[in-house]
Amino acid sequence: MKIALVAHDRKKDDMVALATEFAPLLQQHTLMATGTTGGRLQREAGLQVECLLSGPLGGDLQIGARLAIGDVDALVFLRDPMTAQPHEPDINALVRACDVHNVRCATNLATARVLLHSLIAR
Ligand code: PGA
Repeated sequence: MKIALVAHDRKKDDMVALATEFAPLLQQHTLMATGTTGGRLQREAGLQVECLLSGPLGGDLQIGARLAIGDVDALVFLRDPMTAQPHEPDINALVRACDVHNVRCATNLATARVLLHSLIAR
């Protein structure tokens, strides 16, 4: 499967911890991430990740574009609901694209765990 990973700044530690915990699963799949998230996942979780642009520079839109043509099967997007984001329209567009195309989308840690566990069971 192709899995996209995105975390806002205050959620990046959570993303690294999640990805480290699920590394044996994640490394069996094709991973892509927004730039800063992807860099941390490579360095700190030891995962092979295709790094796209940073989110505020269009990375969320890149993932959304791929998703729209069937190139993303699941999205883990750890959003920070307490901080205003300059690229809020891009974030909304990405989550909307998941709903339009019926792509698995987890936007918090608890649901991300459920999603990743469901992939182990496949
Ligand atoms: P980043 O982008 O991984 O480049 O920080 C995430 C985002 O803000 O959408």
